[in-house]
Amino acid sequence: MRAARARHLAARYPQSAEVLELVAAAYELIGDLQHKFSEAQPLADRLHAALGGRAPEPVRDAVPSVETYYNSPNPFDPASFFARLALEAWARHAPLQFPNAAPNECPRCGHAPQLGVLRQSGNGDALFLACSLCRHEWPFRRTTCPECAETDPERLSYYSAETLPFAQTQTCQSCNAYIHLLSPERELEMIPEVDELALLPLDVWAQEQGFHKVWPNLAGL
Ligand SMILES: [Zn+2]
Ligand SMILES: [Zn+2]
Repeated sequence: MRAARARHLAARYPQSAEVLELVAAAYELIGDLQHKFSEAQPLADRLHAALGGRAPEPVRDAVPSVETYYNSPNPFDPASFFARLALEAWARHAPLQFPNAAPNECPRCGHAPQLGVLRQSGNGDALFLACSLCRHEWPFRRTTCPECAETDPERLSYYSAETLPFAQTQTCQSCNAYIHLLSPERELEMIPEVDELALLPLDVWAQEQGFHKVWPNLAGL
């Protein structure tokens, strides 16, 4: 499902096509191979061997390290790309290990949020943060910066692009962080972590304004 969604979005948003095609191929391979491996590292090595040639140069030349990404995650390290994808396949099925995590940390794996998801609830929307590693979603207060917990509405702003009607970007003037908020009811086939990779125009806009993302995605944005 995620592979098909990534390919669909790659055709629709050519600017993001390179990473979406690579991620689609990785999800397909993970689906075929995961049951053959009992650990994430050999799967990461296999992904790198099979798909590294299609990745941008620093990722192609880096040896993936699952342990490094899990223990001191650095999304800009080219060794992270395939390590993150392989780890995700395991982390998705892990039990909640951090039930007392901070509000902006994943209660399942302790990692940072990748994005926000607005889900219809009663008369309004409820906000959930989605993990950058295991993709678990947990509730979070609306109109709050996930990085510094700012709640002053004067310091939080929202931007959107006509071509991406299912997303908005929340920026914080206090810490200069931004995060994308996705609305699945506006895009019924949405898979949030895949669709977030298609929001390149919003990333470019936010970064040109001097904001940094709460946690960079697989594309390094
Ligand atoms: Zn997680
Ligand atoms: Zn902030």
